[in-house]
Amino acid sequence: MVLNELGQKISQALSMIQNAESIDEKVLDACLKEIVTALLQADVNVRLVGKLRDNVKTRANNADKGAGLNKRKIIEKAVVDELSSMLSSGVDEKKLVDLKKGQPNVIMFVGLQGAGKTTTCTKYGAYYKKKGFKPALVCADTFRAGAFDQLKQNATKMQIPFYGSYTETDPAVIAAKGVEEFKKANHDLIIVDTSGRHKQEDSLFEEMRQVSVMTKPDLIIFVMDGSIGQAAEDQAKAFKDTVEVGAVILTKMDGHAKGGGALSAVAATKSPIVFIGTGEHMDEFERFEPNAFVGRLLG
Ligand code: GDP
Repeated sequence: MVLNELGQKISQALSMIQNAESIDEKVLDACLKEIVTALLQADVNVRLVGKLRDNVKTRANNADKGAGLNKRKIIEKAVVDELSSMLSSGVDEKKLVDLKKGQPNVIMFVGLQGAGKTTTCTKYGAYYKKKGFKPALVCADTFRAGAFDQLKQNATKMQIPFYGSYTETDPAVIAAKGVEEFKKANHDLIIVDTSGRHKQEDSLFEEMRQVSVMTKPDLIIFVMDGSIGQAAEDQAKAFKDTVEVGAVILTKMDGHAKGGGALSAVAATKSPIVFIGTGEHMDEFERFEPNAFVGRLLG
């Protein structure tokens, strides 16, 4: 995964600080320049990168004023803290992943068309099925012809019950009926797939809002193509402004994704990345642990 490459580059930059005989402005600037370059190359939003740079500098300069403080450690910690706050969002992602069995967890998926939502819904269901949950899938995508068939096909393959309609045109009605039916049947994980559009349009957001009102999800997951780069922040923000996005799943991390868009999306939604998709197959899906990722930066 390319996010790891970013991690390696940042570690290397930090080693400049660790290896320098004394830490002056020049060393700090050289180190920060490498970090900034690595983040920009990874498609992290320019504004966020600038903010990280300024904050680390401020903390390093403040360290000059304090006597006896280890400047190396302060800089190192500042970089890690800044990355953590970008990536970890302040939310404990484990709480969002460790669903409680035996109660109906309703999880709604949102995202642009082509992001990988429908595929990810089934991967997500299959992941929890392996853990002993009783998942079910609801197709509330009435916009894209074939969406229900695609979900049906995936669900059948993974032996997960599904609900949808070829005739009902109101996605909020389908979603509500599906959730109700599966709650009655004692499913403890009810996954609601919603429509995407190519662009962020008002109608998409209104529909999403209605589905959310009707199904009262416990968690809304924003599915984002991991390779979208600089556009990630705006896109993520637009979704977050409409519904209560609580977590992010990045797809296509097997392809050309540089991962930096992810950092920007997390910063925009203040929601952690919980899983990543690493291929088209149902088992190409893994947990992502933001704290572990940042922790590894320091080796
Ligand atoms: P939706 O429009 O958001 O529901 O997207 P789909 O689930 O239909 O996925 C769009 C395309 O992306 C399909 O061809 C999927 O097979 C593919 N896809 C989804 N997730 C991944 C992934 O993690 N890696 C790769 N390589 N392809 C993926």
